[in-house]
This record gives sequence, C-alpha cells and structure tokens, in this order.
Amino acid sequence: MGIIHINKVTYEYIRRDEENNVEGITTAVDGVSLAVEPGEFIAILGHNGSGKSTLAKHINAILYPSEGSVVVDGMDTKDEDALLKIRQTAGMVFQNPDNQIIGQIVEEDVGFGPENMGVPTKEIWERVEESLKAVGMYEYRSYSPNKLSGGQKQRVSIASVIAMHPKCIILDEPTAMLDPMGRREVIRAVRALNDVEKITMILITHYMEEVIYADRVFVMDKGKVAMSGTPKEIFSRVSELRELRLDVPQVTELAYELKRAGVPLPDGILTREELTEALKKIRMMGQ
Ligand code: ADP
Ligand code: MG
Repeated sequence: MGIIHINKVTYEYIRRDEENNVEGITTAVDGVSLAVEPGEFIAILGHNGSGKSTLAKHINAILYPSEGSVVVDGMDTKDEDALLKIRQTAGMVFQNPDNQIIGQIVEEDVGFGPENMGVPTKEIWERVEESLKAVGMYEYRSYSPNKLSGGQKQRVSIASVIAMHPKCIILDEPTAMLDPMGRREVIRAVRALNDVEKITMILITHYMEEVIYADRVFVMDKGKVAMSGTPKEIFSRVSELRELRLDVPQVTELAYELKRAGVPLPDGILTREELTEALKKIRMMGQ
C-alpha cells in the first residue's frame, strides 16, 4: 500500500477580473496519477507554471481536486475530520524560509507543531532536540532565526516539520532562494532524513543537480506528467528535456555533447565520478 495516491487529479483555478467576474479557467493540474511508496525519494521537475506547486498543495489538503482524489496514508484529503492528521502525516516546506519561521528563537519555533498537537511538554523538548540534531541545527537552538543564513533557516523549517513526526515531507523548491552552500546543506539534510529516518521525500526543484539522488523523477509540463523514471532514465532523454525547457546536470550535458561528437559514452551519466570512470575505460580500450 503506497503512502500517497494521486488518482486522476485535475485542478482548475477560476480566474477573475478586478470586478470579480469570472474571466476563465486555468487547468493547472490535468489528470495526474501517481503513487508514492513509503520511504521513497521522489523528485518533481518542470518549468514555471507547469503545475508543480498546485499538485504539491493537494498532498497536504491545502487544495482539493476539482476531479479525482488524493489519499494520504489511507486518508482521503476531502475528509475534513482527517485534516489535522493529514497535515501531520505529510508536512510541507515552502520556498521562502522567512515566511515559515514564526518563533522568536529556534527551539521555540520547532516546538510549536508538537505543542499544537497536544504532545506532553517533556516529549516536546525531546522532539525539538532530536529534530534539530537531525538537520544539524542543534547548536543554534537558542538563536534568533533572523541571525541565521537562508540555508540554516530552511533547515529549521524542516526541523519544525520533523518534530510532528511526519511520514512524508513535501518540499516545494526549498532551495530556490538559497546560495550554493545553503542549497547543499538543505539537500544533505533531506537525503539524510530519507536514508536514516526513512521519511518519504517529495522534492520539487528546478536544480537538476538535486534530482540525481531521487529514486524516481516526474517531469511536469502543462499540468501533466510528461516523463517519469529513474534519474538515469530521465537524464538519458536530453533532447526531450530540452523541448520541455529543462536543463540537464552539467556533467550529463558534457557527456551528451561528447557522445554526439563521437566519444562512445553510455547514456545518463549523472556525476563527475561516472564520467571520469567512463572516460578512463574508453582510454584503456584504446590502448
Ligand atoms: P509551478 O509550481 O510549476 O510553477 P503552479 O502550480 O504554481 O506551477 O501554477 C500552475 C498554473 O496555475 C499556472 O498557469 C499558474 O499561472 C496558475 N495558477 C497558480 N496559482 C494560481 C492562482 N492562485 N490563481 C489562478 N491561477 C493560478
Ligand atoms: Mg511552484
């Protein structure tokens, strides 16, 4: 039994003019089905406006499908009585770290979620400690959030979600506003939580380098799933990705161009190490 079932979901925004008259309808998500298994690391790619955020907001019942259904850990998101449980099962991290932290100090912020859930005080402190340690932010527990870098703030946002003991975390472009160092910190934390704690991760991003660690990748275009597969399968399809206005990781791009120029490389090279190994092999065969 999967943890997330998205069944033929369509979502339509109603566009209105300044006088609130209906101007038209935007179909942001168009008949998407996808199922996620517990412990999977899923990445969702797609250029701006392809429907990624709209789809993500269905998973923790911020939006409800116009058609189709979303089931999270056995709970239909349309079931109002399950709302809190759904939000606790599938936590969400957004793009802007400044909009997510509400506490005056880090540990207070991380404690809010469990406190609202009615967790006993002693256990709240245990959860705050374990969550901050899990994202490498425990030393900053008594800092004011506005003293932290973007990457540190995002890790606190992730800790605040973990403190509610979710089974799944959806991250909607969590690194879009961060510098390269902050991006690395956040992705490292996300991978560790998936590896060690087996938390199901759904990472929406347009940084190709962040996708290579995923078990499966979905590429969205015009509200539909245009491609899906392992990172290797997806990044073997360079020309299709370009048609969808997406880049491939730099190393993959280089390997693709070398291959087109006649170097006999395998498809879907994702890391510098893989490229180095493949080139070494070719050189050895040539000697
Ligand atoms: P992405 O996250 O991939 O950039 P979105 O889900 O934000 O895509 O948007 C998908 C489509 O829905 C776009 O055409 C966008 O303009 C439209 N859209 C998003 N939010 C709203 C909204 N609140 N009202 C009307 N249209 C919206
Ligand atoms: Mg978005």
